[in-house]
Amino acid sequence: MEQPLKICHLYPDILNLYGDRGNVLCLSRRLEWRHIPVEVDRVCVGEPLKAADYDLFFIGGGQDFDQEVLLPDLFSGKDKELKAAIEDGKTVLAICGGYQMLGQYYKTWDGKQIDFTGALNFYTEGVKKRMIGNYVFTFDDKPGVNIIGFENHSGKTYLQNGVRPMGKVLKGYGNNGEDGTEGVRYKNVYGTYSHGCLLPKNPTVADAILSAALERKTGHGTLPPLPDHFEKQAHDTMEKRLLG
Ligand code: GLN
Repeated sequence: MEQPLKICHLYPDILNLYGDRGNVLCLSRRLEWRHIPVEVDRVCVGEPLKAADYDLFFIGGGQDFDQEVLLPDLFSGKDKELKAAIEDGKTVLAICGGYQMLGQYYKTWDGKQIDFTGALNFYTEGVKKRMIGNYVFTFDDKPGVNIIGFENHSGKTYLQNGVRPMGKVLKGYGNNGEDGTEGVRYKNVYGTYSHGCLLPKNPTVADAILSAALERKTGHGTLPPLPDHFEKQAHDTMEKRLLG
């Protein structure tokens, strides 16, 4: 592949809780280890987003305050760019606060309504008691694979028509602690509450995301396997600890 896979890290200046940006490092390394060229651009508040330039978008998590602060910038055009990219089949990984931003709105636990992009059909409503902890959920794209994650949110997300969850919660809260769903899938969008080292601990998810982006860009999404010895150990240790 001559042209590099282009990753856009959106709002790295504001949305980066628990080292969410490590996911971008993980995606880049897994491409480099396979000698696939990659380029990462950071697009911060105040900088224009030309979504057509990118193959893959990453949006990290942020607190209610951070999500609110960037609204004027989001609605100065980035929302439309993002929506068009999603409909065009571009790949997106969005975590927690970034995931919520893809939905219709977020009503905070104290009643403030923040309208979001409405790129995907779901909404989020906050409750006072936060949902915190290590958790496990199935990855429905790859039956038999469980995802190990860490969640910390007050928002309860409710998926509506036209989107599906990323998986089913086996331990923990997930989208809302009520309906057993976790995350969202739509076209090549992956949204999840799982913070921090989601991809290093879950190489299957990392490769699913890279495959989707490469397939869309080149028509060839098959990736040669990597050894993933340490990654699997980290994953399996935590899975055993949580599921027994
Ligand atoms: N502010 C959101 C919530 O608490 C997102 C938090 C986060 O990204 N950890 O639901």
